[in-house]
Amino acid sequence: MNTWLYAIPSVILVSLISLIGVFTLALGQDKLKKVTFILVSFAVGGLLGGAFVHLIPEAFEELGINLLSALYIVIGMLIFFILEKFIRWRHCHIPTSAEHVHPIVTMNLIGDGVHNFLDGLMIGASYIVGIPVGIATTLAVVLHEIPQEIGDFGILIHGGFTVKKALIFNLLSALTAVLGTVISLVVGPHVHGYTSVLLPITAGGFLYIASADLIPELQRDVQVSKSLLQFALIVAGIGIMALLVLIE
Ligand SMILES: [Zn+2]
Repeated sequence: MNTWLYAIPSVILVSLISLIGVFTLALGQDKLKKVTFILVSFAVGGLLGGAFVHLIPEAFEELGINLLSALYIVIGMLIFFILEKFIRWRHCHIPTSAEHVHPIVTMNLIGDGVHNFLDGLMIGASYIVGIPVGIATTLAVVLHEIPQEIGDFGILIHGGFTVKKALIFNLLSALTAVLGTVISLVVGPHVHGYTSVLLPITAGGFLYIASADLIPELQRDVQVSKSLLQFALIVAGIGIMALLVLIE
């Protein structure tokens, strides 16, 4: 029961992040860039910390340090590689207008929905292992979802959605996370080895998002001062994840 008490509020919090885009409307393009830069750096640290400080050691503990655990991590990376293909499917040449919703918008919503569903599954599976692991996974998800959802909101607006419509659809695609968590909490305890498969896959997913999705974004800045700040923020993100271990 305790697991539910933590997992459900965690995943609701994650879903509500989908509404964050509306707050960025007031920010100018320049300010938004600065904020995103900080959020993305911090998210990289959170994801790497989540994977290397919490999930991988936990998976090794459950499965042992062996080929199988390592393969699950790679499978997690591949799953997110495929998912990204859908989200980034942008080869559309139809001009945007109010009446015509860009096909990329639909792809983005579906891809995002599946991604959020997996985030939800992972949060649920982590809480089954223990409250601290659950909190670590939730934090890693929250950190990468903030810049991601800001970006998704921008895509929907750019794709011809009104603000209200963008918010509603973004929230709907985020609510799949709640479904994912509920499925994990219901199914997980009855399926032998559920968490020992889900945990390393989650780690792989986090590694993929950090290194293939977010870090290339940061590499576009070559200024020394900015790069140092990025580095410091990444280390801070990992540090926060490490602090969670101390609390355990
Ligand atoms: Zn996510």
